[in-house]
Amino acid sequence: MSDQDIAQNLTSIQQKIEQTCTSAGRDPKDVSLVAVSKTKPNEDILKAITAGQLHFGENRMKELEDKMASIKNADVVWHFIGNLQTNKIKYIADRVNWIHSVEKAKYLKEINKRAGQANRVINALIQVNISDEKQKGGCKPEDLASILESAQNYDFVKVKGLMGMATFVDDPEEVRSEFKLLKELFDSHQKYNEGSVQLEHLSMGMTNDMKVAIEEGSTMVRIGSAIFGERNYD
Ligand SMILES: *Cc1c(COP(=O)(O)O)cnc(C)c1O
Repeated sequence: MSDQDIAQNLTSIQQKIEQTCTSAGRDPKDVSLVAVSKTKPNEDILKAITAGQLHFGENRMKELEDKMASIKNADVVWHFIGNLQTNKIKYIADRVNWIHSVEKAKYLKEINKRAGQANRVINALIQVNISDEKQKGGCKPEDLASILESAQNYDFVKVKGLMGMATFVDDPEEVRSEFKLLKELFDSHQKYNEGSVQLEHLSMGMTNDMKVAIEEGSTMVRIGSAIFGERNYD
């Protein structure tokens, strides 16, 4: 995409975030934009950086590893949002800043180990399955408490909140209840805040359902196609 298209798309997404926050009585500063650059070339990421965007999300471990190695800008904040593979965490642990898609305690253990070897701290979000679609991933709501308890004493991974993906539908109003569920889980699990677990963030909302997600309390929206255009594959 052209420099201008990407810059304009970023501006209009930021405006939509501001408008939605304002009408929902929320402070726009409480919602950050993660630009999902999966499948898109490095040059598109560089154009977005030039336009002032610093948070990027990727959903494949190898693709993230390659992009982190080629884009040297130290101010970029990298988010991993896809399926984790235990044996590949070591390849991203020296640079990734956030991992949104932690659905099992064993991943937190491995992230803590590898981040420790790199002498850095990685922020994690626990992904909860809030939709009926099994392939969306995430832990069951009833498993959340034990996953949080497992992480309270880690030094190199901090659990900062929850992530969820709603069922894909044409009318995002239909999935408002799924976002409400994630917000309720977020509120009801604040009692597990201890040591390295401090639930402050809710990563929810994509291009199609961003508005509803912000109205229901999202603090991080993950937006791909509205910034970089349609993808040929995921
Ligand atoms: C691809 C992806 C997104 C962004 O999707 P868009 O519909 O293009 O905004 C957000 N979150 C996750 C986990 C994704 O895989």
